[in-house]
Amino acid sequence: MSSSVITESVIAPACKKEDLLLDSTLRPRQLKEYIGQQKIKESLEIIMEAAKNRGESLEHMLFHGPAGLGKTTLAHILSYEMQANIKVTSGPILERTGDLASLLTNLNDGDILFIDEIHRLNRTVEEALYPAMEDFRLDIVVGKGPSAQVLELNLPRFTLIGATTRIGLLTNPLRSRFGGLFRLNLYSPAEIQTIVNRSAKILNLTIEPNGACAIAGCSRRNPRIANRLLKRVRDFAQVKGDGIINEKMAKKAFSMLEIDNSGLEKIDRDILKVIVEKFGGGPIGVQTLAAAIGEEEDTLVDVYEPYLMELGLIARTPRGRVVTANGYQHLGLKHIAKKI
Ligand code: ADP
Repeated sequence: MSSSVITESVIAPACKKEDLLLDSTLRPRQLKEYIGQQKIKESLEIIMEAAKNRGESLEHMLFHGPAGLGKTTLAHILSYEMQANIKVTSGPILERTGDLASLLTNLNDGDILFIDEIHRLNRTVEEALYPAMEDFRLDIVVGKGPSAQVLELNLPRFTLIGATTRIGLLTNPLRSRFGGLFRLNLYSPAEIQTIVNRSAKILNLTIEPNGACAIAGCSRRNPRIANRLLKRVRDFAQVKGDGIINEKMAKKAFSMLEIDNSGLEKIDRDILKVIVEKFGGGPIGVQTLAAAIGEEEDTLVDVYEPYLMELGLIARTPRGRVVTANGYQHLGLKHIAKKI
Protein backbone atom coordinates (compact mmCIF):
# COMPACT_ATOMS: atom_id res chain seq x y z
CA MET A 1 0.00 0.00 0.00
CA SER A 2 1.46 3.35 -0.93
CA SER A 3 1.55 6.05 1.71
CA SER A 4 -0.21 8.48 -0.63
CA VAL A 5 -3.26 6.22 -0.54
CA ILE A 6 -3.39 6.32 3.20
CA THR A 7 -2.78 10.05 3.65
CA GLU A 8 -5.04 11.41 0.91
CA SER A 9 -7.98 13.50 2.15
CA VAL A 10 -11.02 11.47 3.13
CA ILE A 11 -13.44 14.37 3.00
CA ALA A 12 -12.61 15.39 -0.55
CA PRO A 13 -10.49 12.65 -2.14
CA ALA A 14 -8.87 13.17 -5.50
CA CYS A 15 -9.94 9.77 -6.87
CA LYS A 16 -13.50 10.29 -8.07
CA LYS A 17 -13.77 7.03 -10.01
CA GLU A 18 -13.11 4.84 -6.99
CA ASP A 19 -15.52 6.97 -5.04
CA LEU A 20 -18.30 6.55 -7.60
CA LEU A 21 -17.82 2.80 -7.53
CA LEU A 22 -18.02 2.72 -3.74
CA ASP A 23 -21.10 4.96 -3.79
CA SER A 24 -22.93 2.77 -6.25
CA THR A 25 -22.00 -0.48 -4.49
CA LEU A 26 -23.29 0.78 -1.17
CA ARG A 27 -26.28 2.76 -2.38
CA PRO A 28 -29.59 1.54 -0.90
CA ARG A 29 -32.12 0.67 -3.61
CA GLN A 30 -35.36 0.82 -1.68
CA LEU A 31 -36.76 3.43 0.68
CA LYS A 32 -36.88 0.93 3.54
CA GLU A 33 -33.09 0.43 3.28
CA TYR A 34 -32.47 4.18 3.39
CA ILE A 35 -31.42 5.06 6.91
CA GLY A 36 -32.54 8.23 8.73
CA GLN A 37 -34.10 11.36 7.16
CA GLN A 38 -37.40 10.08 8.60
CA LYS A 39 -39.56 13.09 7.71
CA ILE A 40 -38.38 13.09 4.08
CA LYS A 41 -39.05 9.37 3.76
CA GLU A 42 -42.57 9.77 5.15
CA SER A 43 -43.32 12.60 2.71
CA LEU A 44 -41.90 10.66 -0.23
CA GLU A 45 -43.97 7.60 0.65
CA ILE A 46 -47.14 9.70 0.57
CA ILE A 47 -46.16 11.48 -2.65
CA MET A 48 -45.40 8.16 -4.37
CA GLU A 49 -48.57 6.47 -3.12
CA ALA A 50 -50.72 9.41 -4.24
CA ALA A 51 -49.07 9.54 -7.68
CA LYS A 52 -49.53 5.78 -8.12
CA ASN A 53 -53.20 6.02 -7.11
CA ARG A 54 -53.81 8.80 -9.59
CA GLY A 55 -51.79 6.99 -12.25
CA GLU A 56 -49.68 10.11 -12.70
CA SER A 57 -45.97 10.78 -12.76
CA LEU A 58 -44.28 12.20 -9.67
CA GLU A 59 -44.14 15.95 -9.19
CA HIS A 60 -40.78 17.67 -9.69
CA MET A 61 -38.62 17.52 -6.57
CA LEU A 62 -35.53 19.25 -5.29
CA PHE A 63 -33.16 17.77 -2.72
CA HIS A 64 -30.69 20.09 -1.07
CA GLY A 65 -27.98 19.75 1.53
CA PRO A 66 -24.25 19.06 1.82
CA ALA A 67 -22.52 16.55 -0.48
CA GLY A 68 -22.68 12.89 0.54
CA LEU A 69 -25.94 13.04 2.49
CA GLY A 70 -27.93 10.89 0.07
CA LYS A 71 -29.56 13.15 -2.55
CA THR A 72 -28.53 11.03 -5.55
CA THR A 73 -29.48 7.91 -3.62
CA LEU A 74 -33.01 9.25 -3.06
CA ALA A 75 -33.42 9.99 -6.78
CA HIS A 76 -32.43 6.41 -7.62
CA ILE A 77 -34.74 5.06 -4.91
CA LEU A 78 -37.66 7.03 -6.35
CA SER A 79 -36.99 5.56 -9.78
CA TYR A 80 -36.79 2.05 -8.31
CA GLU A 81 -39.94 2.43 -6.21
CA MET A 82 -41.91 3.98 -9.09
CA GLN A 83 -40.46 1.47 -11.56
CA ALA A 84 -39.47 4.41 -13.71
CA ASN A 85 -36.34 4.86 -15.78
CA ILE A 86 -33.85 7.43 -14.57
CA LYS A 87 -31.46 9.53 -16.64
CA VAL A 88 -28.67 11.17 -14.73
CA THR A 89 -26.91 14.39 -15.68
CA SER A 90 -25.54 17.47 -13.99
CA GLY A 91 -25.79 21.24 -14.31
CA PRO A 92 -22.34 21.91 -15.78
CA ILE A 93 -22.69 19.11 -18.38
CA LEU A 94 -25.83 20.61 -19.93
CA GLU A 95 -24.13 23.35 -21.90
CA ARG A 96 -26.73 24.00 -24.61
CA THR A 97 -30.50 23.81 -24.92
CA GLY A 98 -29.88 21.09 -27.52
CA ASP A 99 -28.25 18.92 -24.80
CA LEU A 100 -31.35 19.29 -22.69
CA ALA A 101 -33.64 18.68 -25.68
CA SER A 102 -31.97 15.40 -26.60
CA LEU A 103 -32.30 14.16 -23.01
CA LEU A 104 -35.91 15.22 -22.60
CA THR A 105 -37.16 13.96 -25.94
CA ASN A 106 -35.75 10.51 -25.18
CA LEU A 107 -37.75 10.14 -21.99
CA ASN A 108 -41.05 8.32 -21.58
CA ASP A 109 -44.04 9.30 -19.44
CA GLY A 110 -43.16 8.85 -15.76
CA ASP A 111 -39.39 8.74 -16.35
CA ILE A 112 -37.09 10.67 -14.06
CA LEU A 113 -34.47 13.16 -15.13
CA PHE A 114 -31.96 13.71 -12.33
CA ILE A 115 -29.90 16.90 -12.55
CA ASP A 116 -27.13 17.03 -9.98
CA GLU A 117 -25.58 20.40 -9.12
CA ILE A 118 -28.63 22.05 -10.64
CA HIS A 119 -27.45 25.45 -9.33
CA ARG A 120 -24.71 25.31 -11.99
CA LEU A 121 -27.08 25.26 -14.99
CA ASN A 122 -26.44 28.09 -17.37
CA ARG A 123 -29.11 30.71 -17.85
CA THR A 124 -30.29 29.61 -21.33
CA VAL A 125 -30.71 25.97 -20.36
CA GLU A 126 -32.39 26.97 -17.11
CA GLU A 127 -34.90 29.13 -18.97
CA ALA A 128 -35.63 26.30 -21.40
CA LEU A 129 -36.45 24.14 -18.38
CA TYR A 130 -39.27 26.41 -17.20
CA PRO A 131 -41.88 25.46 -19.87
CA ALA A 132 -40.53 21.88 -19.83
CA MET A 133 -41.28 21.58 -16.12
CA GLU A 134 -44.55 23.47 -16.20
CA ASP A 135 -46.21 22.53 -19.49
CA PHE A 136 -44.03 19.63 -20.71
CA ARG A 137 -43.09 21.74 -23.67
CA LEU A 138 -39.75 22.75 -25.08
CA ASP A 139 -39.22 25.76 -27.31
CA ILE A 140 -36.24 25.33 -29.59
CA VAL A 141 -34.88 28.05 -31.82
CA VAL A 142 -33.94 26.67 -35.24
CA GLY A 143 -31.75 28.72 -37.54
CA LYS A 144 -30.25 32.15 -37.05
CA GLY A 145 -31.11 35.77 -37.73
CA PRO A 146 -34.42 36.87 -39.31
CA SER A 147 -35.14 33.37 -40.66
CA ALA A 148 -34.90 31.76 -37.20
CA GLN A 149 -37.98 29.83 -36.14
CA VAL A 150 -39.23 28.63 -32.79
CA LEU A 151 -40.07 24.96 -32.80
CA GLU A 152 -42.43 23.79 -30.10
CA LEU A 153 -41.77 20.24 -28.92
CA ASN A 154 -44.23 18.34 -26.77
CA LEU A 155 -42.51 16.35 -24.06
CA PRO A 156 -43.48 13.25 -22.10
CA ARG A 157 -44.75 13.83 -18.55
CA PHE A 158 -41.39 13.36 -16.93
CA THR A 159 -40.30 14.12 -13.37
CA LEU A 160 -37.35 16.40 -12.78
CA ILE A 161 -35.35 15.69 -9.66
CA GLY A 162 -32.77 18.33 -8.90
CA ALA A 163 -30.01 18.15 -6.33
CA THR A 164 -27.98 21.02 -5.00
CA THR A 165 -25.53 21.80 -2.25
CA ARG A 166 -26.24 25.52 -2.67
CA ILE A 167 -29.96 26.21 -2.55
CA GLY A 168 -29.20 29.91 -2.14
CA LEU A 169 -27.77 30.05 -5.66
CA LEU A 170 -30.98 28.79 -7.27
CA THR A 171 -33.08 31.44 -8.94
CA ASN A 172 -36.61 31.96 -7.67
CA PRO A 173 -38.30 30.99 -10.97
CA LEU A 174 -36.50 27.63 -10.94
CA ARG A 175 -37.03 26.94 -7.26
CA SER A 176 -40.73 27.75 -7.45
CA ARG A 177 -41.28 25.19 -10.22
CA PHE A 178 -40.49 22.28 -7.92
CA GLY A 179 -43.51 20.71 -6.21
CA GLY A 180 -41.45 19.41 -3.30
CA LEU A 181 -38.32 20.87 -1.70
CA PHE A 182 -36.50 18.64 0.75
CA ARG A 183 -33.56 19.60 2.91
CA LEU A 184 -31.35 16.72 3.98
CA ASN A 185 -29.86 17.06 7.43
CA LEU A 186 -26.66 15.68 8.90
CA TYR A 187 -27.20 12.20 10.37
CA SER A 188 -27.15 11.25 14.04
CA PRO A 189 -24.16 9.19 15.24
CA ALA A 190 -26.50 6.19 15.77
CA GLU A 191 -27.77 6.44 12.17
CA ILE A 192 -24.22 6.64 10.83
CA GLN A 193 -23.33 3.59 12.89
CA THR A 194 -26.21 1.70 11.26
CA ILE A 195 -24.99 2.84 7.83
CA VAL A 196 -21.43 1.71 8.62
CA ASN A 197 -22.67 -1.70 9.78
CA ARG A 198 -24.81 -2.06 6.68
CA SER A 199 -21.88 -1.13 4.41
CA ALA A 200 -19.56 -3.54 6.27
CA LYS A 201 -22.08 -6.33 5.68
CA ILE A 202 -22.28 -5.56 1.93
CA LEU A 203 -18.47 -5.45 1.69
CA ASN A 204 -18.24 -8.70 3.69
CA LEU A 205 -16.18 -7.19 6.50
CA THR A 206 -15.97 -8.17 10.15
CA ILE A 207 -16.63 -5.13 12.28
CA GLU A 208 -16.99 -4.84 16.06
CA PRO A 209 -19.55 -2.41 17.54
CA ASN A 210 -16.76 -0.24 18.99
CA GLY A 211 -15.22 -0.03 15.49
CA ALA A 212 -18.49 1.15 13.94
CA CYS A 213 -18.86 3.64 16.79
CA ALA A 214 -15.32 5.02 16.29
CA ILE A 215 -15.88 5.42 12.53
CA ALA A 216 -19.26 7.11 13.11
CA GLY A 217 -17.62 9.52 15.58
CA CYS A 218 -15.20 10.77 12.91
CA SER A 219 -17.61 10.71 9.97
CA ARG A 220 -18.75 14.34 10.20
CA ARG A 221 -22.27 12.82 10.41
CA ASN A 222 -22.03 12.17 6.67
CA PRO A 223 -22.69 8.72 5.09
CA ARG A 224 -20.25 9.12 2.21
CA ILE A 225 -17.41 10.08 4.54
CA ALA A 226 -18.38 7.23 6.90
CA ASN A 227 -18.17 4.75 4.01
CA ARG A 228 -14.81 6.12 2.91
CA LEU A 229 -13.45 5.91 6.45
CA LEU A 230 -14.71 2.35 6.70
CA LYS A 231 -12.73 1.50 3.60
CA ARG A 232 -9.57 3.15 4.94
CA VAL A 233 -9.85 1.34 8.26
CA ARG A 234 -10.48 -1.93 6.42
CA ASP A 235 -7.23 -1.45 4.46
CA PHE A 236 -5.38 -0.60 7.64
CA ALA A 237 -6.81 -3.59 9.54
CA GLN A 238 -5.86 -5.91 6.68
CA VAL A 239 -2.27 -4.70 6.55
CA LYS A 240 -1.54 -3.92 10.21
CA GLY A 241 -3.97 -6.26 12.00
CA ASP A 242 -6.02 -9.40 11.46
CA GLY A 243 -8.59 -7.78 9.19
CA ILE A 244 -11.10 -7.21 11.98
CA ILE A 245 -12.34 -3.63 12.23
CA ASN A 246 -12.41 -2.43 15.82
CA GLU A 247 -11.84 0.75 17.78
CA LYS A 248 -8.10 0.17 18.12
CA MET A 249 -7.60 -0.22 14.36
CA ALA A 250 -9.89 2.74 13.62
CA LYS A 251 -7.99 5.01 16.03
CA LYS A 252 -4.62 4.00 14.59
CA ALA A 253 -5.83 4.55 11.03
CA PHE A 254 -7.30 7.94 11.92
CA SER A 255 -4.11 9.07 13.61
CA MET A 256 -2.21 8.15 10.43
CA LEU A 257 -4.77 10.07 8.37
CA GLU A 258 -4.37 13.03 10.77
CA ILE A 259 -8.08 12.93 11.59
CA ASP A 260 -8.77 14.17 15.11
CA ASN A 261 -11.45 13.03 17.59
CA SER A 262 -14.01 15.45 16.13
CA GLY A 263 -13.47 14.07 12.64
CA LEU A 264 -11.51 17.12 11.49
CA GLU A 265 -8.75 16.62 8.94
CA LYS A 266 -5.54 18.64 8.62
CA ILE A 267 -7.18 20.91 6.03
CA ASP A 268 -9.98 21.82 8.49
CA ARG A 269 -7.43 22.76 11.12
CA ASP A 270 -5.49 24.69 8.46
CA ILE A 271 -8.62 26.69 7.64
CA LEU A 272 -9.00 27.66 11.30
CA LYS A 273 -5.29 28.44 11.61
CA VAL A 274 -5.22 30.58 8.46
CA ILE A 275 -8.17 32.68 9.67
CA VAL A 276 -6.52 33.14 13.06
CA GLU A 277 -2.92 33.63 12.00
CA LYS A 278 -3.29 35.55 8.75
CA PHE A 279 -6.56 37.40 9.30
CA GLY A 280 -6.66 37.96 13.05
CA GLY A 281 -9.54 35.50 13.51
CA GLY A 282 -11.70 37.13 10.82
CA PRO A 283 -14.02 38.33 9.45
CA ILE A 284 -12.58 37.21 6.16
CA GLY A 285 -14.40 36.92 2.82
CA VAL A 286 -14.87 33.45 1.43
CA GLN A 287 -12.94 34.17 -1.78
CA THR A 288 -9.89 35.43 0.07
CA LEU A 289 -10.05 32.49 2.45
CA ALA A 290 -10.28 29.99 -0.43
CA ALA A 291 -7.25 31.59 -2.09
CA ALA A 292 -5.31 31.55 1.18
CA ILE A 293 -5.82 27.82 1.70
CA GLY A 294 -5.39 27.00 -2.01
CA GLU A 295 -8.87 25.48 -2.50
CA GLU A 296 -11.75 26.22 -4.85
CA GLU A 297 -14.39 28.45 -3.30
CA ASP A 298 -17.06 25.79 -4.00
CA THR A 299 -15.05 23.11 -2.20
CA LEU A 300 -14.55 25.36 0.78
CA VAL A 301 -18.25 26.21 0.99
CA ASP A 302 -19.67 22.76 0.12
CA VAL A 303 -17.20 20.40 1.72
CA TYR A 304 -15.33 21.96 4.61
CA GLU A 305 -17.48 24.76 5.98
CA PRO A 306 -20.74 22.94 6.79
CA TYR A 307 -19.13 20.74 9.42
CA LEU A 308 -16.91 23.48 10.87
CA MET A 309 -20.08 25.51 11.30
CA GLU A 310 -22.03 22.56 12.66
CA LEU A 311 -19.36 22.16 15.35
CA GLY A 312 -19.51 25.90 16.01
CA LEU A 313 -15.82 26.40 15.21
CA ILE A 314 -16.42 29.07 12.60
CA ALA A 315 -19.36 31.40 12.04
CA ARG A 316 -20.69 33.35 9.09
CA THR A 317 -21.11 37.08 9.60
CA PRO A 318 -22.23 39.67 7.03
CA ARG A 319 -18.57 40.65 6.62
CA GLY A 320 -17.16 37.15 6.28
CA ARG A 321 -16.09 34.10 8.24
CA VAL A 322 -14.84 34.30 11.82
CA VAL A 323 -13.27 31.71 14.10
CA THR A 324 -15.42 31.35 17.24
CA ALA A 325 -14.23 30.92 20.82
CA ASN A 326 -14.75 27.16 20.34
CA GLY A 327 -12.56 27.29 17.24
CA TYR A 328 -9.74 28.93 19.18
CA GLN A 329 -10.16 26.32 21.90
CA HIS A 330 -9.93 23.54 19.30
CA LEU A 331 -6.58 24.93 18.20
CA GLY A 332 -5.44 25.21 21.81
CA LEU A 333 -5.38 29.01 21.56
CA LYS A 334 -6.82 31.71 23.77
CA HIS A 335 -9.71 33.66 22.29
CA ILE A 336 -9.69 37.40 22.65
CA ALA A 337 -13.16 38.71 21.84
CA LYS A 338 -13.16 41.67 19.49
CA LYS A 339 -15.86 43.91 18.15
CA ILE A 340 -16.90 43.19 14.58
P1 ADP B 1 -25.23 13.05 -2.47
O1 ADP B 1 -25.95 12.84 -3.76
O2 ADP B 1 -26.06 13.82 -1.48
O3 ADP B 1 -23.86 13.65 -2.64
P2 ADP B 1 -25.20 10.15 -2.38
O4 ADP B 1 -26.65 9.87 -2.56
O5 ADP B 1 -24.30 9.95 -3.55
O6 ADP B 1 -25.00 11.63 -1.78
O7 ADP B 1 -24.70 9.27 -1.13
C1 ADP B 1 -23.34 9.02 -0.89
C2 ADP B 1 -23.17 7.61 -0.34
O8 ADP B 1 -23.68 7.57 0.98
C3 ADP B 1 -23.92 6.55 -1.17
O9 ADP B 1 -23.04 5.54 -1.52
C4 ADP B 1 -24.88 5.90 -0.22
O10 ADP B 1 -24.56 4.52 -0.14
C5 ADP B 1 -24.58 6.47 1.14
N1 ADP B 1 -25.81 6.94 1.75
C6 ADP B 1 -26.29 8.20 1.68
N2 ADP B 1 -27.42 8.31 2.39
C7 ADP B 1 -27.66 7.11 2.91
C8 ADP B 1 -28.70 6.59 3.76
N3 ADP B 1 -29.68 7.39 4.19
N4 ADP B 1 -28.66 5.29 4.09
C9 ADP B 1 -27.64 4.52 3.67
N5 ADP B 1 -26.63 4.94 2.89
C10 ADP B 1 -26.63 6.22 2.51
